[in-house]
Amino acid sequence: MPRVAVVGSGPSGVYTAQALVQQSSVPGVLVDVLDRLPAPYGLVRYGVAPDHEKIKSLQNTLRSVLEHERVRFLGNVEIGAEGLTPEQLLRLYHAVVYCVGAARDRRLGIPGEELAGSHSATDFVSWYSAHPDAVPGGFGLGTRSVVVIGVGNVAVDVARVLARGAEDFRPTDVPHPALGALAGSAVRDVHMVGRRGPSQAKFTTKELRELGALPSAEVRVEPADLALDPAYAPAPADRTGSGPPTPAARPPAAVNRRNVDVVRGWAGAPDQSRARRIHLRFFLRPVELLGTDDGRVTAVRFERTAPDGQGGVRGTGAYEDIEAGLVLRAVGYRGVPIAGLPFDEATGTVPHRAGRVLRDGAASPGEYVAGWIKRGPTGVIGTNRSCAKETVSSLLADAPALGARRIDGDPLDALRAAGHHPVEWPGWLAIEDAEAALGAELGRRSVKIPDWEGLLAAARGERGPSGT
Ligand code: NAP
Repeated sequence: MPRVAVVGSGPSGVYTAQALVQQSSVPGVLVDVLDRLPAPYGLVRYGVAPDHEKIKSLQNTLRSVLEHERVRFLGNVEIGAEGLTPEQLLRLYHAVVYCVGAARDRRLGIPGEELAGSHSATDFVSWYSAHPDAVPGGFGLGTRSVVVIGVGNVAVDVARVLARGAEDFRPTDVPHPALGALAGSAVRDVHMVGRRGPSQAKFTTKELRELGALPSAEVRVEPADLALDPAYAPAPADRTGSGPPTPAARPPAAVNRRNVDVVRGWAGAPDQSRARRIHLRFFLRPVELLGTDDGRVTAVRFERTAPDGQGGVRGTGAYEDIEAGLVLRAVGYRGVPIAGLPFDEATGTVPHRAGRVLRDGAASPGEYVAGWIKRGPTGVIGTNRSCAKETVSSLLADAPALGARRIDGDPLDALRAAGHHPVEWPGWLAIEDAEAALGAELGRRSVKIPDWEGLLAAARGERGPSGT
């Protein structure tokens, strides 16, 4: 009976496990889904915003896979420098699929990035998602003005959370300290800033539209920012002259056209005097974070940009400072190397061919990747399903050769013997119960436990710190 380890229990890991057990070509395959954290679901639990309940409900689908009779969840097991090496893991399993995502935020590389009050959006998301490695002390929201750098879906998430009323989060599983900080928030202006134009922004239209539907906030767009966008060039039929369209006038992709239409609808809209404002800004690239003498951020300096006709932008030499007591960089994620596994620094991914890990250009028997660590941090959750299927097809094609290797005993015994204390499925169910009990205590629905100690105590069936 072939044994496969899937490292990571986020969508890519769970879709990989699902594809493995659904295949009939390798009967009886046993899958252990390992995770560094005691809780499963990766970014669905620790990344999807708490007010996106429909996406959160995907946990029910993932749960049914982890409860499959031939799948086993083993949380609290670290792979890499601080834990089991890939070499050790491959001795315990016929095959290992790494689905570890892209855990680190990308940096801007500009002066002032280290000032107090400057954070990655990932830190902010981890805080309101109760990730046990979130920054200690959390986020005080005592500032009026926040700058969010980047115009992708993460930027939209953090802007929406900042602009939304705390009452909207009370029915969610947001940790209690974060709920308190949101309730006491002084934030009035959230500036979400892109270095290119709206037709080149990375957010999806559905997520963008949500910003305009918040009862507590209004979206402001400066018509002058939009006028620069290549998508605002007159349509060919309207242009005078008969030459070919310039590259700048090339029509944008369909999805971006929809974004442009939404943004255009907001430009110049009348002031609605709502409690908060989301300022959508474009053609501004960050050059420096400005701060006080004692190292607190006060503003972001941007250089105005203009389209270069090739889809990029060039600097104009004109600058604009936007006040900010909190700066969140939402400029994308990046994969983190696993000690003992090859890593391409340029792309932040593990080199692979159709999911087979490549060592010195050759497929390494029994080692595979799926998800963001395979293809980079792009796409929506569903993208991981086809990505996992491709990897599993490669694995199944290799299975006859891999399965010939004899593996004695249950890897769980070996993990325990090596000093690991895996949290198994009943342990996770105990965490869920403890979170429901915490919610009941606070007069809320289930509330997440935000710390390692509390999660592990709950997994053991003990009452940990209350999480408040
Ligand atoms: P992203 O989609 O890659 O967006 C990154 C943004 O940062 C872009 O606007 C990019 O601009 C900008 N940027 C990059 N480097 C910059 C720099 N040095 N200075 C200024 N701006 C810079 O990344 P993301 O928002 O982190 O999202 C990651 C993935 O998760 C995406 O696939 C996203 O769709 C997904 N996600 C989905 C949801 C959802 O479906 N609700 C929620 C969250 C995340 P350029 O385009 O000019 O490089």
